[in-house]
Amino acid sequence: MSENAQRKIAFVGSECYPFVKTGGLGDVMYALPRALTRQGADVRVIMPYYACIPEKFKSQMKFLGSFMMDLCQDGHTYFVGIMETELDGVTYNFIENREFFDWGNPYTGLWEDIPKYCYFSKAVLAALNFLEWIPDVIHCHDWQAALTPVYLRTRFAPTPVGQAKSVLTIHNLRFQGICSIDHLKYWSGLPDYLFNYPVFKVNDTEANMFKGGLAFADRITTVSATYAEEIQTGFYGEGLDAHLRYHSPKLKGIVNGIDVDIWNSAADSLLAAPYDMFNVIEKKKENKRALQEALGLDVDENKFVIGLVSRLTDQKGLDLVNAIFQQIMDENTQFALLGTGDPRYEGAFRYYESVNKGSVCSYIQYNEGLAHKIYAGSDALLVPSLFEPCGLTQLIAMRYGTVPIVRETGGLKDTVAPYNAEENSGNGFTFDYYEAGLLLKAIQSAKELYFEDRGRWDEMVRRDMDKDVSWEKSASEYMALYEELAE
Ligand code: ADP
Repeated sequence: MSENAQRKIAFVGSECYPFVKTGGLGDVMYALPRALTRQGADVRVIMPYYACIPEKFKSQMKFLGSFMMDLCQDGHTYFVGIMETELDGVTYNFIENREFFDWGNPYTGLWEDIPKYCYFSKAVLAALNFLEWIPDVIHCHDWQAALTPVYLRTRFAPTPVGQAKSVLTIHNLRFQGICSIDHLKYWSGLPDYLFNYPVFKVNDTEANMFKGGLAFADRITTVSATYAEEIQTGFYGEGLDAHLRYHSPKLKGIVNGIDVDIWNSAADSLLAAPYDMFNVIEKKKENKRALQEALGLDVDENKFVIGLVSRLTDQKGLDLVNAIFQQIMDENTQFALLGTGDPRYEGAFRYYESVNKGSVCSYIQYNEGLAHKIYAGSDALLVPSLFEPCGLTQLIAMRYGTVPIVRETGGLKDTVAPYNAEENSGNGFTFDYYEAGLLLKAIQSAKELYFEDRGRWDEMVRRDMDKDVSWEKSASEYMALYEELAE
């Protein structure tokens, strides 16, 4: 057993697959604790008990107890219930309160979300004391859990949990939990002296939960080395670049992995023809045909199928795609989009489908099963993001032998080596500046290799499948960080 066997780590975040997932955070909250458990850590994940958690999980949970907790400036108290379940060696604790978590979705708009996550961030610490399970490190994720490090060093400092260290991970700096100073003061119940510029204050009227958490956390991590650098600049810093430059000695980038058991093309029951790197070239054709049938595209294994699986927001580079869409579409190309989000992008992709019947399918939905089929049945996956802290879809694509076409930003830059014709190396096609012409050129280069040098294309497909995109290496880096903190 490793020397880390005794380390207790609490993971605190607003979503976690398979209970609730809206994006990459949910994947990380699931996969990283499992990887850490395999490396000998004792990990507990703490998240809200949302009404939308599927019944099959709720019915397996046991009730551990409850208490009342004061929250607001006026001392108003709230019920805290604690539920528990276990999945593959990881313990999951759920914080229950109907007033906050009985909505249909985890996120319902900032006005309600601020009170919800003030409550959650504080209830987590109270619950750890209640359970008498005192972790070495409390690893908090994104703005929803950002007040936990603040409560830890203020209200909870003299309590048992106060001895724990904290890590706050930035999964996406765009979302920060900004509201009026009065709103945050009231709901957090935190003392006035914290509402200054080094902690919460943004300007004369607004406060920022993430900013405060970053100030108080013992360590800050983000999900790729490049994003760790980028967020210290004005363009990517979302208004917190100076704050992050100040705190940069405690900031580190650790790239995400993916769960290679869930994303395993050889044992993926959702695929028409599961495959490994030895039979990928043949089997991919079968998956492509099945995908074309499922999406109502012309069934033709010789088409170059481009997939795009994404939240439809401006972060994801969809303005670039919009600018060149008809230039991407020639008679040899098909396009399969899966995504939901901003109505203007949903509308645009519906339009492209209507004018490119048989060669474009826009599936405006959140659909896990179809995502697997697109990763397996496409030749290339497009990720032209404006910014991308890490990005998981390019990792999944590579694991499924689908060549990523990405912009060189954040984790995309760190995980996709550009194709180098001279050395016959690389994992995908990349472009640097946020410019539609460069994206088009990258897509054209990909098509050129696909249609004119299939042997080399196939080699890249196998190279991608062979690339280590698992969590093991990154989990070791987190373990080293926890060790350093715990000592
Ligand atoms: P982000 O967290 O910014 O949304 P990531 O690339 O880190 O982006 O993670 C996205 C995750 O969500 C991936 O697992 C991807 O497969 C999944 N995903 C995104 N949109 C959909 C969708 N419409 N249907 C199914 N899965 C989706």
